[in-house]
Amino acid sequence: MSGRETEAFILKTEDLGEADRWVSLYARSGGRLRGLAKGARRSRRRFANVFEPCSLVTMELREKRSLVWIEACKLLDPHLALREHVGKWACGALLCELVLELVPEGETDEGLFRLLKHSVWQLAEERAPLNVVLVFLCRLMDMSGYLQAISGCDRCGRGLRDARSWRWDPARGILLCSDHGPLSAGMLSIDLGSLLVIEGIRRMPLDSIWRLQFSSSQRLEILRSLLGWVSFHTGKGFASRKVIEQLDWT
Ligand SMILES: [Zn+2]
Repeated sequence: MSGRETEAFILKTEDLGEADRWVSLYARSGGRLRGLAKGARRSRRRFANVFEPCSLVTMELREKRSLVWIEACKLLDPHLALREHVGKWACGALLCELVLELVPEGETDEGLFRLLKHSVWQLAEERAPLNVVLVFLCRLMDMSGYLQAISGCDRCGRGLRDARSWRWDPARGILLCSDHGPLSAGMLSIDLGSLLVIEGIRRMPLDSIWRLQFSSSQRLEILRSLLGWVSFHTGKGFASRKVIEQLDWT
C-alpha cells in the first residue's frame, strides 16, 4: 500500500454506480492513470467541482489491490476561460483525448506534464486555439516518436528551403516537392512556412514554441491530416474532432 500527493490534469470521468466515479488523469508523479473516486457523486465536500476536464488539481492517490484510489482532490486552476468559448472548449477536449489515446499508462514524464500545463494555459489565454492544439499535437507526436524528420524531397533530394510548396503524407512519412505530378490520395498540400513551423516545434525549447504560428488558412487542414494519421495508428476516433470540424474558424 502506498500513498502520494501529486499535481494532475483531469482528462475524463465516468460514473460508476450511484455514488462513485472513475477519473482518468495525467499526474506529474505517475503519468496517465485511472483512479477511483469513492463517493464522488455524493460527497460535495470532498470532491466539489474538481473533476472537469482540463482542470489542474492536486490529489492524494493511494494504490491498493492494483487499483488507484483518489483519496482527496483540491482544485488549483479550473481554466474557466475554456468553458466560456466553444472553440477553446473543443480544443481542450481534444488535448485530453490525445493524451488518453497516445500516451501509455503509468509512465511518469515531467516533460509531457509541462507540455500539457503550457498548452492548457495557452488555450485559456490565446486567441488562436486551433494553433495551440496543432503545436501541442506536433510536439506530442515528436516526443512519442511518431513524427519523422522533414528534411527535403524524398524522391529528388531537393532541400526543404528550395521550394515553397510541398506535398506531405504524415501517415507514410513521405514529403515530395511539386515536380512529381499531381497530389495523390492521402497527401496534404502544405507550404514551406508550415513545414518550418513543424521543424521549430521539434527543435525549440517549450517556452519558445508558442510564438510559432501555422497560417490560419491551413490550420484545420493540417490538423485533419495529423488526426487522420493518429486514428490510422491507434484505431481510435476523436469525438471533439467532429465539434472542431463544425465550428467556423475564420
Ligand atoms: Zn522532388
